[in-house]
Amino acid sequence: MANAALAAPPLEPGVSRELARWRAKAYGDVRYDLALAVRVPVTKLEGRLELRVAVRGKPVDLVLDWRPPPGGRLAAVEVNGTAIERPRIVHEHLVIPARIVRTGDNVVRLALESPVATAGTAVTLYRDREDGSEYVYSLFVPSDASTVFPCFDQPDLKARFTLALEVPRAWEAVSNAGVIDTAVDGATKRLAFRPTEPISTYLFAFAAGPFEILDEREDGVAPQPEARLFVRKSRLTRAKREAYEVLMLHRRAVDWFAGYFGFPFPFPKHDLVLVPEFPYGGMEHAGATFLREDSVLFPSAPAAADRLRRAQLLFHETSHQWFGDLVTMRWFDDLWLKEGFANLMAAKATAAITPEYGAWNAFHQLKVSAYRTDATQGTTPIWQRLPNLSAAKSAYGNIVYSKAPAVLRQAEFYLGAEAFQRAVQGFVHSHAYGAADWGDLVRAFEGASGRKLDAWAGAWVKRRGMPVVRTTLRTGSDGRIARLALAQTPALGGDDVWPMRTELLVAGEGAPRTTPVALEGRTATVPELAGAPAPRYIFANHGDYAYGRFVLDDASRAAVLADVGGIADPFLRALLLDTLWDEVRDARLAPLTYIDLALAQAPRETEELTVASLVGRTQTALRWYLSEAQRAQAAPRVEAAFVAGMTDAADIGQRITYFRAFVGTATTAEARATLKALLAGTREVPGAALSSRDRFRIIERLLALRDPEAEALLAAQSQADRSDNGRRYAYAAAAARPDAEAKQRVFAGWLEDPALAESWIEESLAPFNTVEHQPATVLLVAPALRELPKLKRERKIFFVNNWLAAFLGGQTSPEALTTAKRFLRETKLDPDLRRKVLEQLDGLERTVRIRRKYG
Ligand SMILES: [Zn+2]
Repeated sequence: MANAALAAPPLEPGVSRELARWRAKAYGDVRYDLALAVRVPVTKLEGRLELRVAVRGKPVDLVLDWRPPPGGRLAAVEVNGTAIERPRIVHEHLVIPARIVRTGDNVVRLALESPVATAGTAVTLYRDREDGSEYVYSLFVPSDASTVFPCFDQPDLKARFTLALEVPRAWEAVSNAGVIDTAVDGATKRLAFRPTEPISTYLFAFAAGPFEILDEREDGVAPQPEARLFVRKSRLTRAKREAYEVLMLHRRAVDWFAGYFGFPFPFPKHDLVLVPEFPYGGMEHAGATFLREDSVLFPSAPAAADRLRRAQLLFHETSHQWFGDLVTMRWFDDLWLKEGFANLMAAKATAAITPEYGAWNAFHQLKVSAYRTDATQGTTPIWQRLPNLSAAKSAYGNIVYSKAPAVLRQAEFYLGAEAFQRAVQGFVHSHAYGAADWGDLVRAFEGASGRKLDAWAGAWVKRRGMPVVRTTLRTGSDGRIARLALAQTPALGGDDVWPMRTELLVAGEGAPRTTPVALEGRTATVPELAGAPAPRYIFANHGDYAYGRFVLDDASRAAVLADVGGIADPFLRALLLDTLWDEVRDARLAPLTYIDLALAQAPRETEELTVASLVGRTQTALRWYLSEAQRAQAAPRVEAAFVAGMTDAADIGQRITYFRAFVGTATTAEARATLKALLAGTREVPGAALSSRDRFRIIERLLALRDPEAEALLAAQSQADRSDNGRRYAYAAAAARPDAEAKQRVFAGWLEDPALAESWIEESLAPFNTVEHQPATVLLVAPALRELPKLKRERKIFFVNNWLAAFLGGQTSPEALTTAKRFLRETKLDPDLRRKVLEQLDGLERTVRIRRKYG
């Protein structure tokens, strides 16, 4: 290209899209050479950065992102050998003036200091109370690397990182690349890592501490790419029991993805680092995936759903090594690309590697969470305009994690599996070690399928909302189908259409018939079925390839209600049970009717995931949707069914599922006695010993119910388990104290105690907002909403979503709804936060509507 060297765009805090675009043109060939030291007790990192960057064309300002937390410092800044006495900082950028910048290579050297704390810093300290050890780990996604060192904190300016870490002698350390050299000098150890492949700043990471390392070596030989499991010292014994399965699943996933993408594992090694209290399931740092320890080392006896979630987490993060790390989104507006692919690939890998887990049933549950957002006024397109990276955290949510994979699955069905895979392989090859956007993917789809996809992409990528698809059937006097048609309307109103392909199921006498239907416009008829016998029911999303709400017509709904238990295909059964639940949510089917159906069906159900859904919905219906009087009547029946399930279900996973549901639902005096008997060991869940977390959960419920023995039980269990996890569970359980004063105290602690780990707050949000505690919690709805801007600024991604889901999800009254709506009316709120509130408010609106109609 010609000279890119127009001046930098006007600077603002964060990284603006304009700045990112300009820098991607003006700069290239970036290298970060970081030498950092960590000393115990850990309070900070200190060290040096040497940054190399090539300037294309005429010299321009070097604009680095630099937004240090309190205590973060730069010193001895030097550019191309010239010392800079007073570095210029403009709106969170370190600006090196063009006059000392050269065309071609430039070198910036500086010394830095960056604080490390248990919360609020991008490098987090974890103190293990079990043995007094300290661990540190970085987490820079989406743009927090620039809080530790000056950098170009945007995904498409990839760089090679060369890290050297100085740590206490007994420590291990892990980063994106392998260690090339270790030197011990007295009490310290210096680890030099190899330079990485070109990676984005948000994918650069390190962790250090007295880790233990488990690997797959047999007779000294490790399979390639080498994979090791890092675990804190105090959890070694526990980790040893799981390491084989985890590393084996990982190995099989690596092989499967290499085959699917037609591209070998893109980095020289892949370490899996278990991080205690990691803020979410995992983060796919190139070559060094960080995983939440609790998600891998089960805190309670696992149900099949827990094993499934763990496998999917491993597969999700591993697939990111290709989709995300090897090929990276150009900008975080395309976050959906990497997350959509990771969740779709996780499902595909699950289906291939662990078919017993019911991958597509789980994938359907994921889609349900997308529908829960996409039918609300708070929804966004999967592609989300993002003028500044400072708002990137808000993009994380159901639309990106659940709708995007569903849209990609529909794309696969729409284009054909072969064309889809060919396109994906081409996309990965063309953009390897670089960046791409959704347009590149659509062009790859078009190339592989030979179809024009503007309308398709416009509807699915750039537009928010979802279609509601209805079937209409006209039968002739001969009792045969005269006309069968599908019609779509947008859930949020208007007249948009989503081009789609679906599979229609028509069930009547004999085996059900399925027919593919292309619904490119508002309506489509299905002429192939004219003349066929009139069906008992019609379901327009057989196989679950399409995305939308597929409504049963009245006759079909009645037939499905009657027939669903006898349907032999477990996946179809699960889909139809879900569709009936949608009818409850739309206030067209009484929650009590669903409870009856679920209690009758669950004991006959073979699929553990379906049992979990039925049991979960029974809980929702009972605790949220019924009136007091209805609940008092239904509770003994539900409790008895759950107790029977946890004692008598043939399958251990099902017994665990029922047990958890029982603990969460118990209300009657008899149920409380059963909970205490479980604690005392006079009753049991056959085959599943109670873990400490189970015990805390039981106590939490007893506290929530004002059981007179609850406080003593909590004190005893807190004494019995002084581990870090135990202390966190105890803190969360205590948040279930029902009185208003206790709630106020916990709430104030969340806002004011800087040492309180985010993981503790998150663990306590649900017990705090126990739906039975509304008299106390409704008073905190407005104060909780007022915290949103601060939470968005200071907390990790997902926190705002979890906060809102807990506070609004804990309410069922018109009064709470009014409070939240008034807040929206009277408060000036960033649009992304407003959408998040609207998204969560939808559930409360539905609850109010259902209770009004059926309560
Ligand atoms: Zn992901």
